[in-house]
Formats: sequence, structure tokens, C-alpha cells
Amino acid sequence: MQTTDKKTKTVLVVGGGVAGISAALDLAGNGHRVHLVERGYDLGGQVAKLDKFYPTDHCAFCPLWTEIRRCKEDEAIAIHPLSRVETLEQQPGGYRAVVVQSACVVDPSLCINCGRCETACPKSVAKPIWEHAYPPVHVIDGNRCGDCRACVEVCPTKAIAFDREEQRVALDADEVIWAAGFDEVSLAPMKEYGWGTHPDILTSLEFEAWKAEAGDNQGKIIRRSDGAVPRSILFVQCAGARDLRLLPHCSAVCCMHALKQAQWVKRRHPDIDCVILYTDLRTVGRDYYEYALRDFNGNGVRLVRGRSSLITPLPDGNGIAVKYEDTITGKREIRQFDMVVLNGNLQSSLASKPAPGARPELSGEGFVTAAAVSCGFVMEPADVTESAIQAASAALRTITDKN
Ligand SMILES: Cc1cc2nc3c(=O)[nH]c(=O)nc-3n(C[C@H](O)[C@H](O)[C@H](O)COP(=O)(O)OP(=O)(O)OC[C@H]3O[C@@H](n4cnc5c(N)ncnc54)[C@H](O)[C@@H]3O)c2cc1C
Repeated sequence: MQTTDKKTKTVLVVGGGVAGISAALDLAGNGHRVHLVERGYDLGGQVAKLDKFYPTDHCAFCPLWTEIRRCKEDEAIAIHPLSRVETLEQQPGGYRAVVVQSACVVDPSLCINCGRCETACPKSVAKPIWEHAYPPVHVIDGNRCGDCRACVEVCPTKAIAFDREEQRVALDADEVIWAAGFDEVSLAPMKEYGWGTHPDILTSLEFEAWKAEAGDNQGKIIRRSDGAVPRSILFVQCAGARDLRLLPHCSAVCCMHALKQAQWVKRRHPDIDCVILYTDLRTVGRDYYEYALRDFNGNGVRLVRGRSSLITPLPDGNGIAVKYEDTITGKREIRQFDMVVLNGNLQSSLASKPAPGARPELSGEGFVTAAAVSCGFVMEPADVTESAIQAASAALRTITDKN
């Protein structure tokens, strides 16, 4: 689809989160064509997993849903789900990407979301893609299935097949935008955080999904261990971040989402003791400090400046002990909490960028700095507003005629 008319460009956008979606819509809205390559089943990225959305506290998914729908209905945007770029080569006037699309068990173009596969599945592997997907379809992770094939038998549209193979397509584009977002880095190697040792020690994304109104618990704040309402929750900031052993950078969005999560807990359960253990509060953005002030002004969330040195389950499993220093009073404390939420372990999905000035390879993901304009969290830790602003700027850079 590479274009010969210089006024209309074809842009390959890699990553279908907020940044990739925004860039694609900006490009299409200005008369350009887009290949939007997303490794997951559907568009939305991490924001599709969020509950409420700072700084407005509105539903995170509602505006996202509108944007996803606009993308899917725009004929100038070709969406390639379950896909990744295998190679990217520069050629006269543009790029050629080889994109690999994983084999999918359920063909989304045939699925009518009747749910019969879900009912028939003995291992609960068949499930809706996500509650608000547009259009709604079911997915099946073939790696977790046995050989029963009950779903194939009951599917009325023959959408399910286990013998599909991955596909490779070559896509030509004038420009490339890399918007592949971020991932959580495992905290398991940092034993002092206790992650993985108790079900009630969660990362921020795990907690966000756990408490989401649109999630499995329908907004209930309960412990993962026994389904009881917790009496206390500790939010630990900079877990793994600003730490040369794991992530030297500040993840930038965590102070705000900890404030958001703690305030939501308080709104639903004023009796739960919510404590945020922070290094320093980084609330950079319009209205963000006012958001934090709600906590300083006595809405019940307690802010303690300090860092924990040990988080460990109690011997009877009923609660978590946390050892920390309050760096304002200088006091060392050991306290018990019912849940602990770890914030900070967020990293660009491009973990290893070539050093500035190094010659990038045109294979693997090293090619990115050579070929692409990047935007969103993949470039630097960024919230949704910042990611969308960067996406607009990336879109503009790719369509500005450099010749
Ligand atoms: C717990 C938590 C709460 C948050 N709450 C808020 C909030 O309330 N308000 C706010 O403004 N921000 C919030 N954020 C930040 C927000 O999640 C990010 O700003 C946003 O997700 C960035 O969007 P993105 O498109 O850059 O990246 P992502 O959302 O990570 O999307 C990237 C997309 O690229 C895809 N991808 C990755 N690699 C590849 C590849 N190689 N090929 C193809 N596709 C690929 C991924 O599957 C994904 O769909 C929160 C973050 C966390 C962790």
C-alpha cells in the first residue's frame, strides 16, 4: 500500500494502545493511510485494563472505546491484530516490513459471540475477548487446550479451527511510527518486595484489574486470598524503580495512579485504612497536584514519606508485615497490612535501545531508532494525555514532506 502520490502517505504504526490509536486516527483524518500492527487480540493497550482514569476519575474505557470504534470503521486504517514486525528494511522512498500474524483459533471475522464455545469448554479456556470489545468476539488460547475440541463441535459459524498457521505479509510504508508501549518488569528477583509470595501482594496493574468495576469482582474491594474486605492497604511507591538494580528511571505515572487507586478504595470503603508509602510525590500535570491535595486535606488516605526494606507474609498467611522507615519522623516501623500494592515496575517495551549514535541494526527491534518516530510510553513513561500529545506530534512528523 506504499503510495506514489507524495501528498498521501502510508504509515506503519506499531502498537495499538492509546498512542498508536491516536496517531492512526490523526493520520487517517488528514487523508493518509495506516497499517496498524498490534501484537494482542484487540486494540486498547494497557488503558483497556484500567478502571477509572486520573485526573477526571471518569471511566477509562469509555473514551477509548469510541476511539477503537473509529479506528475499526475507518477504511484508511488497516488493522493487523495478533501481529508483530519481523523485519523492517529501508528501500527507496520508504520501508518494507515483514509482519507475522499468529495463528488464531477463533477467526474474529466469523465469530458471532454466541458463547457456545465458552459453555462447552471443560477448561474455561474459551472466553470473551474483553467485556467491552467492539465487535465482541470470543478467544481461545490454543496452548492451554487439551484435545477435546468440544468448541469446534458447537460453533455454529465454523469460526474455530486448531489447524490454522501463522501468516507472513509484506507491508510497504513511507514512514514508521513505533508506539509499542510498556510492560511490567517482574519484581520476583527483588525478594524484599515479596511479590509472588502471597496473593495479596499485587502490582499496580494487577490491583487495577482486580478492583475494576468492569472486571471480575465488579468493583468490590476484596482480598485475593480469601475474598474478605481488607482492613488496610499499603501502596508502595518506586517498587523496582529509581533503583540501579532494576529500573534506574522514575516510572512517572505511578504517584498519580496510586493516589487514584487509594481514593477509589476510600470512596467505596471509607473504613479501609489506605497508606501510600512514597519517596517524593511526583504529580506533574495540569490539575494533578490538586488531585494529590485531596489526600493531604483529610479524605482519609494517609501519605507516609519513606521506603520499605522488607515486605513479607505473616507466618499464618493472614496478612503481610512491612518494615519501613518514615523519613520525615526518622522512625522505623513494622506494621501489618491486609493488602500491599507495588507501584513502579514499568518499562518501555523496547528494553534495550541502541546507545545514542550507535549504528542500529535493521533487524530485531534495534531497527526502531533508525526507522521510526516513537510516541507514548515506549519513548518515555507517559500518561494518557501525554501519550496522545506525543502521538499527534509523531503523526505530524511523518507526514511533513522532508524532500
Ligand atoms: C496501574 C496503572 C494505572 C494507570 N492509570 C492511568 C490513569 O488513570 N490516567 C492516565 O492518564 N494514565 C494512566 N496510566 C498510564 C497509561 O497506562 C499509559 O499512559 C498508556 O497505557 C500509554 O499508552 P501507549 O499506547 O503508549 O502504551 P500501551 O498502553 O502499553 O499500548 C501499547 C500497545 O502496543 C502493543 N505492542 C507492544 N509491543 C508490540 C510489538 N512489538 N508489536 C506490536 N504491538 C506491540 C501492546 O500490545 C499494546 O496494545 C496508568 C498506568 C498503570 C500501570
